[in-house]
Amino acid sequence: MQYIICDIGGTTTRIAQASEESLTMDPIFFPTEQDFTKELHLLKEHITSMHMNEPIHSMVVGLPGALSKDKSTLYKAPHLPDWNGRPLRDELSQAFQTPVFLESDAALVGLGEAVYGAGKGQRIVAYLTISTGVGGARIVDEKIDAATYGFEPGHQFIALPDLQGAYLPQCTVCPLPGHLEAFVGGEALHHRHEPGRLRDVLTDQEKTDAARYLAFGIYNMLMFWSPGIVVLGGGLIVHDVIDLDEVRKNLRIINSIIPELSLLVKGELRDVGGLYGGIAYMKKNTF
Ligand SMILES: [Zn+2]
Repeated sequence: MQYIICDIGGTTTRIAQASEESLTMDPIFFPTEQDFTKELHLLKEHITSMHMNEPIHSMVVGLPGALSKDKSTLYKAPHLPDWNGRPLRDELSQAFQTPVFLESDAALVGLGEAVYGAGKGQRIVAYLTISTGVGGARIVDEKIDAATYGFEPGHQFIALPDLQGAYLPQCTVCPLPGHLEAFVGGEALHHRHEPGRLRDVLTDQEKTDAARYLAFGIYNMLMFWSPGIVVLGGGLIVHDVIDLDEVRKNLRIINSIIPELSLLVKGELRDVGGLYGGIAYMKKNTF
């Protein structure tokens, strides 16, 4: 059987065909269109050009934002405002006459890492990505854990927004300051610095501070999610803007509850994590 997996990030879209076991072609990458209609057109064009030798069994699509409760559309896509509320699931389903499943892109990458990457063999995996924004998911028994609205670990408070007189960073899309993403997310950090690569423009002290802030966010995740392993991905981790040893050191200082801290590791699948997540998703959901 043939499946189509799409991983639509805020900046890059990745598509591939897959079987039950692996990708069956080199993935196609293209820049994600801000304009929903244009993106839909490109998706249709690329998928049609794949020359599927049998009918498409189903499609899974990772999306950069919060999904509606029935998972038919995005209701909050911070970096793709034109996409909010558009009927992506039904449009694709109609175009290819196949069931379409929408998921959060971070959850799909987390699932890929849990089943095929750095979290392989662990029953409960917490995935956290630190890139433009901060996202993640809890994966249990090789499935994205049940959730009413999905997971938003980037928008947990790590500082109280009503601290009198204190300056607190604020996410670019949130009305209150104090969220984890405001402290360690790439966009928020860029906002407060000269243009350039974060690894160059941040001072050593700022990098050390970012690792400490991230440790508080991860500690909260350990308290609520109780994972055996925490897998970290995203540009700021891949390019060592935030040093994992520094995060581990801070976790040891903060921790007073858990007898042994969960493992903390880098993701392994990089750009194709979401596509592998799509394969794992299909295995549990449609076979
Ligand atoms: Zn926020």
